[in-house]
Amino acid sequence: MAEQKIENVIIVGGGPSGYTAALYTARANLEPLVFEGFQWGGQLQNTTDVENYPGYPEGIMGPEMMTQFRAQAERFGTRFVTDDVDRVELSDGGVQRVFLGDEEHLAKTVILAMGAEPRRLGVPGEMELGGRGVSTCGVCDGAFFKEQKVIVIGGGDSAMEDSIFISKFASELTIVNRRDEFRASKIMFDRAGEQGNINLKTPYVPEEFVAGEDGKLNRIRLRNAETGEQEEIEANGAFVAIGHIPKSEIVSDQVDTDEDGYIVTQPGSTRTNLGGVFAVGDVVDHTYRQAVTAAGTGCMGALDAEWYLRDTPPSPEAHWMPGGEPAEIAPTPGP
Ligand code: NAP
Repeated sequence: MAEQKIENVIIVGGGPSGYTAALYTARANLEPLVFEGFQWGGQLQNTTDVENYPGYPEGIMGPEMMTQFRAQAERFGTRFVTDDVDRVELSDGGVQRVFLGDEEHLAKTVILAMGAEPRRLGVPGEMELGGRGVSTCGVCDGAFFKEQKVIVIGGGDSAMEDSIFISKFASELTIVNRRDEFRASKIMFDRAGEQGNINLKTPYVPEEFVAGEDGKLNRIRLRNAETGEQEEIEANGAFVAIGHIPKSEIVSDQVDTDEDGYIVTQPGSTRTNLGGVFAVGDVVDHTYRQAVTAAGTGCMGALDAEWYLRDTPPSPEAHWMPGGEPAEIAPTPGP
């Protein structure tokens, strides 16, 4: 029976962090194999103009940017599988196993880059009006609502941060929260209160996002969470900021995660609690969550994997590279 190839590195996830990890490991001659997911491109695939990624002075559409990230990684020999990983069997320093159905792929290192998804309200119009008034990223889309009416939904730090940012552009901003109490830290809540154009509306939940004749968001139907009474408010923009869900299900019983499901890495690195398993991007990061920070940690993950391969002697269990020598690892390029 032919011996199965053991990859140097498998990357799980096809967003900015995964593609950047692929670019760096490909340039280090590690021939990465990327399981980029059926809906490759991550959250940027659902974004329109990206104006805050350095290097694109005119801005770029999210899907176009991801196509370029992917092409750059491919140029140096990255191989892609456009499918979702079903499960993994991770080990501490041994062979890492990644499964597509019954198809098993082996690797010496795995970089977990599955990302996160914004938590959704699940009400009519929310998805349909995405990119046409409804957004989940204030930092990305706030500037599109100059002198317009905006609502922000949520009562945590993200909602406060989005509100503070967007209030610089919007004429009027209303924070809609389902409780009278706010989960946000006092400092963030107070800072939002210091802006002159932010109002609070509690305890309300959105029931529907409604388009105007131009097909863009025009108003939002709200329900009072205590009395059940309904009312409509006008808004050109609505930002749903009710948290994120890290996409860590396939590994959550194997690597350390925090109480919210984010993968825990050692401070200042992308190392998880398992030797040879690294985690990057939004599946780790509940604070910054920007394409540029995800790309940065993707680079870190690639270098950590490269150094691990360089420094780790073959484990007896692993039988590195049956029938061959370990891949030669190029020296890390200087800055
Ligand atoms: P969060 O703290 O979990 O807050 C989520 C908010 O959305 C809560 O107000 C929650 O209401 C509400 N919510 C959840 N599901 C909802 C639903 N279905 N309908 C209506 N409202 C709903 O999430 P986050 O604000 O994204 O913050 C996540 C973490 O990142 C926190 O640790 C936060 O401190 C940190 N963070 C820090 C900063 C900063 O310091 N600059 C900025 C952003 C985030 P309930 O309170 O009723 O559950």
